[in-house]
Amino acid sequence: MMGQIREAMLPPSATKCAPAVSAAQLAALCNVDKSKISYRLTRGDLPEGTMSGNRREWSMADAQVWVREFRSAHLRPANTAAITITVANFKGGVAKTTSAVTLAQGLSMRGHKVLLLDLDPQGSATTLFGVLPDAEVEQEDTAMLLFAGEHDDLSYAVRKSYWPGIDLVCAAPLLFGAEFALPARQTKDPGFEFWRCLDRGLDQARADYDVIVIDTPPALSYVTINALMAADGVLMPLPPSALDFASSAQFWDLFSDLCNQLIRSRGQDKTFEFIDVLLSRVESTDAASSVVRQWVLEGYTEKVLPIEIPKTAVTATAAAEFGTVYDLPRGSMNARTFARARDAYDRMCELIEQQIEAVWANQVEQFGG
Ligand code: ADP
Ligand code: MG
Repeated sequence: MMGQIREAMLPPSATKCAPAVSAAQLAALCNVDKSKISYRLTRGDLPEGTMSGNRREWSMADAQVWVREFRSAHLRPANTAAITITVANFKGGVAKTTSAVTLAQGLSMRGHKVLLLDLDPQGSATTLFGVLPDAEVEQEDTAMLLFAGEHDDLSYAVRKSYWPGIDLVCAAPLLFGAEFALPARQTKDPGFEFWRCLDRGLDQARADYDVIVIDTPPALSYVTINALMAADGVLMPLPPSALDFASSAQFWDLFSDLCNQLIRSRGQDKTFEFIDVLLSRVESTDAASSVVRQWVLEGYTEKVLPIEIPKTAVTATAAAEFGTVYDLPRGSMNARTFARARDAYDRMCELIEQQIEAVWANQVEQFGG
């Protein structure tokens, strides 16, 4: 059935492709005037795109060549490592997957090379990338063999995706096996540190990519613990509802208990470069949610990103069509709703990029780049 739905959604070849980029979008991404784009075109040293009617447009891959040229000051400096961002929250339905995938897309449009690692056995991010977890994903496409101890490095599982600049490690229900494999390895070998399996497995990726984005299941599972231990930064999407707020507090309680038991007891520690709480699926007209939003701001203070992702039909519909707001060509929906959703995600990516750049700057300072 999923195969049939996908064929209906993605005709005619049933594979996805990234949207084309208009001159206005390209100028915005490069942070220059449209006239500067036209001027630079005359030099002929950057991809010239194609004419669609009387408007010029670029493929996503070609647009990224421009972006990397104009945004070089924002890109990863030499001899620094990829920044790993884990998107996590106890609960399902809080927009973890949507946030992870839009973040990966947004950062790649800003010129970064991204690895998206799907660690949720439900494979929602994998599905958004046009791959069917049940039919098209084998063990060797997932992190399962890393967790099982058959590989020490995750590189074996990395695949190209339809989106230029994003590579993908898929997930499928078989990844539930990690919840048995990791404790079993721990029992057999008390010196094994199950929580560091992924951290170690990302060594090669940290050299090959600029940013690693990890989508996690709605649980503090063995796999989620690995994703948090491997992370430089955490993004926690949080809708302003009382139950979601309460469960987010439980999440941090449990996680810090775990850290105490596993890590501090061994004289080690775990710190994050940044923790971002993202108000997601915000309904501006809902009075109850503005009360809870106040709790979130008071509870998480400066960790709350100064942007709210509005609850919009655009996001919901786009997901149903195997994509995010960045997959839709402009003008494919109500322009104002679309712009509001897209602007919010742009701002989210910008805020997170600033923190990534700060970590790189620190690395350069510490290790001399
Ligand atoms: P999680 O990964 O936390 O379970 P998802 O990202 O899968 O959450 O989102 C859950 C549902 O909410 C999906 O159907 C998604 O399309 C929808 N959704 C996510 N963000 C928004 C939004 N801003 N507005 C409306 N619907 C949203
Ligand atoms: Mg999800």
